[in-house]
Amino acid sequence: MTVSGRVPPVLRRALAPDDPHCYRHCDRPLRARALTARTPGLLLVYACPGGAVSVVTYSEWRNRDPTPTLLAYARTHTLPPRLVRRWDLRTATRHGPELGRGAEAYMGKARPPRPLRAVYWRVYPTRTKDGSVRRLFACARHGRGNVRFFLAPGDAQSPRCPACATGGKKRAR
Ligand SMILES: [Zn+2]
Ligand SMILES: [Zn+2]
Repeated sequence: MTVSGRVPPVLRRALAPDDPHCYRHCDRPLRARALTARTPGLLLVYACPGGAVSVVTYSEWRNRDPTPTLLAYARTHTLPPRLVRRWDLRTATRHGPELGRGAEAYMGKARPPRPLRAVYWRVYPTRTKDGSVRRLFACARHGRGNVRFFLAPGDAQSPRCPACATGGKKRAR
């Protein structure tokens, strides 16, 4: 039996970060935005209304490592791509009991039985040599599914990404 890896809505709640607020930026609630991509699983970015990214997660409901898919996606959508470092990606395997009763019952009936596998890309704010803080932002000005990740000053609100600054469309895909 072929399993596509698609993540049904009943399992999506399991992917939310523990802290639902924007850490060290604005403390407002994070919003989950599903990104359109040619992937079988679910790609979500958790960011605040000002565009500061807390975590990007990709998950598949099948027993396969989702890391290469997120790594490839992130590198294609990050300026510059070298900001995406393999060690900033962490995987988690979620089984039924830790996901709440509804999700557990749903997973228990599935054949073949399989866990939810997720990978999380998290870039922590960093302090530069001059003492200023830089953190990861997402720019949503290039169309749905064509998000751009980039670093900007830690207190920025909805900053423009490098592609926007250079006229954008040439570099956007
Ligand atoms: Zn924020
Ligand atoms: Zn942009």
